[in-house]
Amino acid sequence: MSRVRVESGKCVGHGQCAMMAPEVFDLDADGYVQVVVEELGEQQALDARDAALACPEQAIAVVD
Ligand code: SF4
Repeated sequence: MSRVRVESGKCVGHGQCAMMAPEVFDLDADGYVQVVVEELGEQQALDARDAALACPEQAIAVVD
């Protein structure tokens, strides 16, 4: 089962992650990332990996 880790100190709030994987990421009131699931399903893991690649700050990691 995959999980997602976010280094919140790196997040500057571009929002790509929430657009690419809305089941995994949300943005808080200030526009910074929040992870909304603990363990990722298969499609969620694929979406989260795409989001990790898209994050300009490399703040996201998907771990198995
Ligand atoms: S794409 Fe990266 S920098 Fe942008 S909100 Fe998501 S984690 Fe933060």
